[in-house]
Amino acid sequence: MSVKEQIEALRDELRKHNHNYYVLDTPTISDYDFDLKLKELQALEAKHPEFYDANSPTLRVGGEITKNFNTVVHEYRMYSLDNSYSKEDLLDWEKRVEKIIGDSNIEFTCELKYDGASISLTYEDGKLVRAVTRGDGFQGDEVTTNIKTIKSVPLQLKGDYPAKFDIRGEIVLPFEGFNKMNEERIANGEDPYMNPRNTASGSLKLQDSSLVAQRPLECLLYSVVGANLNIETQFEALEKTRSWGFKVPTVAKLCKSVDEVMAFVEYWDVHRHELPYETDGVVVKVNTLRYQEELGYTSKSPRWAMAYKFKAEQVSTVLNEISYQVGRTGAITPVANLEPVLLAGTTVKRASLHNADQIEKLDVRVGDTVFVEKGGEIIPKIVGVNLEVRPQDSLPTHYIEHCPECNTELIRTEGDAKHYCPNEYGCPPQITGKIQHFISRKAMDIDGLGSETVELLFKEGLIKNYADLYTLTVEQLLPLERMAKKSAENLVKGVAASVEIPFERVLFALGIRFVGETVAKKLAKAYKNIDALMYASALELATVDEIGERIASSVVEFFQNEINLDIINRLKSYGLQFQVSADKLLNQTEKLKGQTYVVSGVFEMSRNDLKKLIEDNGGKVGSSISSKTTFLIAGDKMGPSKRTKAESLNVPIITEQEFLEKLT
Ligand code: AMP
Ligand code: ZN
Repeated sequence: MSVKEQIEALRDELRKHNHNYYVLDTPTISDYDFDLKLKELQALEAKHPEFYDANSPTLRVGGEITKNFNTVVHEYRMYSLDNSYSKEDLLDWEKRVEKIIGDSNIEFTCELKYDGASISLTYEDGKLVRAVTRGDGFQGDEVTTNIKTIKSVPLQLKGDYPAKFDIRGEIVLPFEGFNKMNEERIANGEDPYMNPRNTASGSLKLQDSSLVAQRPLECLLYSVVGANLNIETQFEALEKTRSWGFKVPTVAKLCKSVDEVMAFVEYWDVHRHELPYETDGVVVKVNTLRYQEELGYTSKSPRWAMAYKFKAEQVSTVLNEISYQVGRTGAITPVANLEPVLLAGTTVKRASLHNADQIEKLDVRVGDTVFVEKGGEIIPKIVGVNLEVRPQDSLPTHYIEHCPECNTELIRTEGDAKHYCPNEYGCPPQITGKIQHFISRKAMDIDGLGSETVELLFKEGLIKNYADLYTLTVEQLLPLERMAKKSAENLVKGVAASVEIPFERVLFALGIRFVGETVAKKLAKAYKNIDALMYASALELATVDEIGERIASSVVEFFQNEINLDIINRLKSYGLQFQVSADKLLNQTEKLKGQTYVVSGVFEMSRNDLKKLIEDNGGKVGSSISSKTTFLIAGDKMGPSKRTKAESLNVPIITEQEFLEKLT
């Protein structure tokens, strides 16, 4: 087999596995074996750039940056849908359709209405050439680079596809992935995203496609447009596009009457909660494409389709009180305390009001009867006020100006969605929040100590920060309520054992704003010990891979604070790990100490291995060329602009081989 054939065979095989995994949900290979094959292909492609293919499975990981998204005119306009809310609405529509067509046996295809961001994909000769957002329906933004990272979007089709067509669908973010993203954000002290739909559409416009690649987005397709497609009905279109490799949900049903359509609607109104992603209704389409053509369009929507919106699950109840929660980073969240009410199978007592703007926008007041809705969000939200029953003496809500916990005046920096309590070291929920984060599973993972005990210990004056945990004694703990001898001993033992937790997790545990698990790992690797990290400037920090300005300045600020320095000194004296452990350092040298490398292009070894090699030998990896760059390691296909920049800044350009020689 020639190299070219070998590359093609691997690409085909990986495509098939991608399709099995992401489209059919039935993988036939282990993740490990998949990775091996992908690596094999990467290595071959790196060695043979002449066989480059923009649609290779190796390019799914993203990395390309789009600064400005081009505007592209849709060859076929993307329409809205008319809405219907009752069986009568549908019967009226059926009558109109029958009258225009002159046929009284119209068939309908029923599909679910996926709630995400609309997208139009253009394929030519079986290859994805363009992906464009809906925009205003006439023209949208080209987001091809980002869409290519979504694994359920086929880059190369299979079977008997037409030479050229557009296919429309919806980019959705399934609940599971959405919740995971939010857990991470919360752990990092960031505000959670509001709902999957907005997060999905926001993802399409991210400039860095590798960030898009990390989001578990999916692309569900529902209609194909083009000339000479040789397709007779919508139902057939769904089946055919599925066979070309697209993810086309299989719940679609062919219905012969409005009664059958209503049965489909009623079934999914209940069972949609079992689906992994959000849906907000059913789309009913005239099945015969010839009829669709005859029916045509109004100024904004097709006459041959109708959306039937599910009733958002909504109830009304009385708002008893607005309380304000203070998070570990000091962010204030207003919470509505409600007269308990049943909603979508659970009793709801509280709903989020998000922030001051939301309260103002809705003009929510205590004593109001409010409408509460449960959509994709984890927490129910208030969507409106029943003004007809507003009490006469009701007063507008005055957003608090002082922290409900410590009475410090709140601040709101421009651009921030929320108010903050700046009293970081004196505000009880911020203090306990930091300690709770410190002991949490992914941080110091302290056995025998839970969130409630932290609050109790704080209340009793036994701890004021996480360093205080290390001086607790069994004698101090015993007098506490519900603290048996055994639990007290376990707590002290658990704390003592945590001194073995590796540096990167200690760094995460410190609770530096924006320093989540991954960032902590990067920093630990780049700086090896806390002293080096402490003296790093924001500029230097920002040269570390994936560390942006926002994180860098937060780190600097943290280490400038006397209180933090004092706590760290104490933790050091208790024996916590403030440097990368010795066995991690084995195989590592300081040969590249003080040098910053930028790597660009395709290499013999994987880029990650190359970066690791630099870091393991004391060097730093920078993300862009600057006067601080010591060497640019150039691989195949390095962009010409990188070369020009390096030359203009007198940064020496070396090959992979020349780099390896430095290490011998
Ligand atoms: P609307 O934005 O409420 O007018 O609804 C129209 C949008 O519904 C379209 O732009 C599509 O993106 C979306 N949609 C979701 N699922 C479907 C489906 N199965 N068929 C057609 N459109 C759909
Ligand atoms: Zn406070």
